[in-house]
Amino acid sequence: MTKLLNGNQLAKEIRKEISKEIEKKILSKNKRIPHLGIILTGTNNSSITYVNSKIKECKNIGIQSTLVKLPIDSTEEKLLEEIKKMNTNPLIDGFIVQLPLEKHIDQDQIILSINPKKDVDGFHPENFGKMALDMKTFFPATALGILTLLERSKIKISGKHTVVIGRSRIVGKPISILMSRKSYPGNSTVTLTHSNTLNIEYYTKQADIIIVAVGITGFLKGNMIKNGAIIIDVGINKNGKNILGDVDFRSVYGKASYLTPVPGGVGPMTRVMLLKNTLMAALTNRKHPTL
Ligand code: NAD
Repeated sequence: MTKLLNGNQLAKEIRKEISKEIEKKILSKNKRIPHLGIILTGTNNSSITYVNSKIKECKNIGIQSTLVKLPIDSTEEKLLEEIKKMNTNPLIDGFIVQLPLEKHIDQDQIILSINPKKDVDGFHPENFGKMALDMKTFFPATALGILTLLERSKIKISGKHTVVIGRSRIVGKPISILMSRKSYPGNSTVTLTHSNTLNIEYYTKQADIIIVAVGITGFLKGNMIKNGAIIIDVGINKNGKNILGDVDFRSVYGKASYLTPVPGGVGPMTRVMLLKNTLMAALTNRKHPTL
């Protein structure tokens, strides 16, 4: 029997917890509500959809959001200027620059220019380094969402062999670090595989947990996993109006012990973790107690 891990349900519970925490730690002390800044450049349809859903999530939970939209031909200097404003605005607790950026903009320079204390995406090297060194910091939302989904589903990961497929900065790398951290949850033995890995089945067949983030519909098939493996499908692949994962649901369902559905698995967990990071920023960044 395969149990589906319901990210929608868990995200709903976590949203309630965040709301309660905002009430208890912020509003009841007459402080202003947490405030997330979002910078969106260009006209990429997926980015616009993601940003709209982030704004909606904020609204539903009682987090203020401010969107700065820049035209597609904005220069890197203009974007850096907007980042500077967010960095120095005491009324913005944390902010994100929606990725990907247009080709003429140096993404590394942009990420480096974000104040790490306001980097609620957790992409700044300072935060990434802290994450790798077992320190407290902002963790990238998808990786934190996966870790939380496993933890709250009471799935033991310590001592288990995890195979991560994909090494992107936003998913594969951070989740491989978080799974192997010397902390709870963590302590998994991690193999990070990618497009240059030879004979990937050799690794996936040994895995207790497989986290797939490749962006290829149905990449992980039932004959690549062992019986009872735990499968986390990060993929969001559009097929007309349908959204399909990186896991071949038909052949994996029934063989895996746990599986995240697409949609309704990792996606909602990712969205709620941005809210969690924004609350964390509001609780840690404000210098004056009444702010
Ligand atoms: P990416 O394109 O940045 O990275 C893909 C990774 O897959 C690369 O590291 C590459 O080495 C690896 N890869 C490609 N082909 C491979 C192969 N044949 N064998 C092994 N590895 C291979 O993608 P990403 O940003 O990490 O996103 C991956 C997927 O996850 C996409 O479908 C994306 O839409 C989705 N995603 C979902 C969420 C969510 O919240 N659910 C969040 C972010 C990304």
